[in-house]
Amino acid sequence: MADGQGAPAQAAAMVSEKIYCANCIHCKLVRTTSGNANQYYLRVRCAAGKWKKKLGEEKIYKYFTVARRSLDNCDSYIPMGDAREFIRDLRKSLPIKDELYT
Ligand code: SF4
Repeated sequence: MADGQGAPAQAAAMVSEKIYCANCIHCKLVRTTSGNANQYYLRVRCAAGKWKKKLGEEKIYKYFTVARRSLDNCDSYIPMGDAREFIRDLRKSLPIKDELYT
């Protein structure tokens, strides 16, 4: 910006932009067993190891909640594209509850 006022405003906008884990390369979809060998549930995990329980074990989340995983910032965030459009489309396609798949 020629007048030097655009850059700080842009930086402020970037800082206030929420990070959606679902749009991060480290957010991985995994299957967990259901007790029945032919059926499974979908879960999401952070392959960068950022999701932890209080005692330090890895925390995984139910797939249908993935659009809710957001942060103000994350030093390991690697976006996979335009977050706003991606999250909008993801919300339309996510199941509304924890589903069993075969
Ligand atoms: S690295 Fe950060 S932004 Fe990416 S999935 Fe893990 S916690 Fe979310």
